[in-house]
Amino acid sequence: MASNVTDETTQDCIFCKIVNGEIPADIVLRGTHTIAFRDISPQAPTHVLVIPRIHIEHAAAVEPNHAEIVVEMLTAAREVAASEEILSKGYRLILNVGDDAGNLVPHLHLHVIGGRAMSWPPG
Ligand code: AMP
Ligand code: ZN
Repeated sequence: MASNVTDETTQDCIFCKIVNGEIPADIVLRGTHTIAFRDISPQAPTHVLVIPRIHIEHAAAVEPNHAEIVVEMLTAAREVAASEEILSKGYRLILNVGDDAGNLVPHLHLHVIGGRAMSWPPG
């Protein structure tokens, strides 16, 4: 198994701590393999993070055996968009990987951002 992928939680990971309930979060959805919670520094009226319950470092560390988890991340994002009433208006899904993308938290997370018009390309 690659060193940056583990099926166990990582003790000093802030998002693993949210999964374990060790630190609080505004959780909006709980799934079999994922949870979704509001970003602490929202960049739009809706800004929710969908994360796997297991520790996967980032999108580039995803392996074929994570398929079920990754599909649930996408279906959870759609459920969040529906409950936030932005499904028909549109929203943005973002996976930051590495320094140039501004990836700060080393636990895979899908940003679900919406509730306002967005520009392209991103900054
Ligand atoms: P990224 O830059 O893609 O790694 O995004 C990390 C995101 O996690 C940022 O948007 C932060 O605002 C968010 N974040 C960091 N700590 C927390 C936390 N404790 N609860 C909720 N969101 C957090
Ligand atoms: Zn983690």
